Amino acid sequence: MTREEQVKAVGLKAGARVVGIAPVEAFREKVPEGYRPEDILPGARSVVVAGGDGPTAGAWRCPDHRVMEITGYDLRENVAVHAMCDFIEGTLSHHAIQAPSLPVHGHEPPMSMMHAAELAGLGTRSLAAHIILNPEYGLLYYAALITTLPLEPDPPLAEPACPHPGCAAMYKRIGTTPCLRVCPACLAGKVSDGRIQESTYDRERCHSRAQTYGIGSLQKGLLQIVNEDDADRRRTMIYSDFFTKSLQSVGFFRDSIAQCFECMRVCPVGRKYRKLK
Ligand code: SF4
Ligand code: SF4
Repeated sequence: MTREEQVKAVGLKAGARVVGIAPVEAFREKVPEGYRPEDILPGARSVVVAGGDGPTAGAWRCPDHRVMEITGYDLRENVAVHAMCDFIEGTLSHHAIQAPSLPVHGHEPPMSMMHAAELAGLGTRSLAAHIILNPEYGLLYYAALITTLPLEPDPPLAEPACPHPGCAAMYKRIGTTPCLRVCPACLAGKVSDGRIQESTYDRERCHSRAQTYGIGSLQKGLLQIVNEDDADRRRTMIYSDFFTKSLQSVGFFRDSIAQCFECMRVCPVGRKYRKLK
């Protein structure tokens, strides 16, 4: 096995669905200085990206869509990245660090996992909230590692995963696609010659529907509670579903992953893996 195959095999065995490799130089075109892989790990040569399954096929079928957020994930892409880091450091004697995908200050993470996945040839941006779609599996969740190990990179995909041929045909017929039709409040776009020509995603609107709970909602709720003079109302606010969920999300040290999957529910890419007996 080549070194690349060895590293990928470790990630796949640890639960990743796909693993791809990007060279650090590929980040220079669109990533500003200070946020590049070599700014996080001096001497970095490669970025290895793991894509993991999201909700199980069964979770997609649950009639209460809110259940998916708390039951559908195993976040194995992070486990795969740690297993590959251990292998690179323990067996191949090179430095490796998990790529930071959560903010260390402010609201933006130091590194975009979406961009890393694109550069590692694992997927392309879609009309649905610009989610990276893997051409085979559709929606996946991405984690990455940065390493000083030189590895042969995988090329970015030659053909975009979105629009699916069925979506391109639908757009030609009626001027919309399944995801654009299901969420006109957040999504807009144009398709021509089977390619995305224009794509707009209103993140603030989507956020208010798909990611209601988290650190921000706790801060907002707390401010309202301390400013509330009426003791009965204050009590109701503290025990409310909204405040309890916000506390829970902080207790698990994560913001809400997603409470709305409608644009992905209607997407045909990777749907075959959700059709079971
Ligand atoms: S996640 Fe929900 S709210 Fe956000 S773009 Fe998709 S369908 Fe719209
Ligand atoms: S439904 Fe079609 S157009 Fe929308 S994200 Fe999926 S493949 Fe792209």
